[in-house]
Amino acid sequence: MPSTTFRLGSRTLNLSNMDKVLYPDAGFTKGDVIHYYLSIAEVLLPHLKDRPITLKRYPNGVDGMFFYEKRCPSHRPSWVKTKMVPSRGKDGRIDYCLVNDVQTLTWIENLASIELHTLLSKAKNVQQPTMVVFDLDPGPPAGVWDACRVAIEMRDLFSRLGLQTFAKHSGGKGLHLVLPLNTKVTFDETKDFAKAIALLFEKNDPARVVHLMRKDLRNGKVFIDWSQNDEHKTTVSVYSLRARQRPWVSAPLTWKEVETALRTEKVDAIHFEADEVVARTQKMGDLFEPVVDDETETPARAELISRGIGAAEGRETGDRSWFREHAFASRAA
Ligand code: ATP
Ligand code: MN
Repeated sequence: MPSTTFRLGSRTLNLSNMDKVLYPDAGFTKGDVIHYYLSIAEVLLPHLKDRPITLKRYPNGVDGMFFYEKRCPSHRPSWVKTKMVPSRGKDGRIDYCLVNDVQTLTWIENLASIELHTLLSKAKNVQQPTMVVFDLDPGPPAGVWDACRVAIEMRDLFSRLGLQTFAKHSGGKGLHLVLPLNTKVTFDETKDFAKAIALLFEKNDPARVVHLMRKDLRNGKVFIDWSQNDEHKTTVSVYSLRARQRPWVSAPLTWKEVETALRTEKVDAIHFEADEVVARTQKMGDLFEPVVDDETETPARAELISRGIGAAEGRETGDRSWFREHAFASRAA
């Protein structure tokens, strides 16, 4: 197997099969994958830092078989950092790779780890999510523009409560809406909170939104997947490539772009490939930068969470009307 020695800072890596085509339709090779990740590393690495990662590996390209790899491969170089996380599995632990530097990033990409899936928490406290994620999945014939509509309504709700949210394309079919926290909170709280929001949106617009995962309920609607807010679940990282037909990326979007996509239904305008994402980042910087360490600890959040939990549990208190009134103030006006 052809291999190249690659010197990167203080480390030497052996890279193999750089010419192997991993995306046949695009002629995108393993060398191109590594080149993309090296080009985006500066903005990507802060999002991966100290986060247990699951590698989704495609040794024979996007059309071949793939596997999720939670355990950091045992043949790793000695300098690759790992974090042991207790697990329910057979030996009771998983040593996850931590991708904190460009050398580790290059090493995992040499293993054809096209997609990077991270926990919503960091290694030092895997029980504390650093963000809330709403995974917006359009069920055909609903399209990503419908997910844009929901994302905008959610942004408006959160913004009235003084909370800033960020949108990215999943790189696949839908959108991800992220609410940074970076404060002391538990998955129980964030999951309840996300569920309450999803339920609220479903109740407000049942023809277009659904909060249950069942596929048959999704036709023509946007499924707000709140259940991703779980200690054991991963979400594809911002700037990760997706193993689809073309080297599409889970790319951060401006709200203006999301609004335009909703208005025009031109979905290509928010679905970016590797080279476009590198160019955008050079121009726009990292649109997701505040997600890394912006701290959200506001009275509004605490109030929303407690009232949200009430709504999720279906408690018929004054809470729900308060919640609805605030959530959809602009419509009522
Ligand atoms: P799309 O927009 O096409 O839905 P997505 O990345 O949001 O893309 P989902 O199927 O909605 O894909 O799943 C959300 C997240 O859950 C993924 O990004 C991934 O990290 C995780 N996930 C989904 N399926 C699995 C699986 N079988 N094993 C491990 N993680 C998974
Ligand atoms: Mn999704």
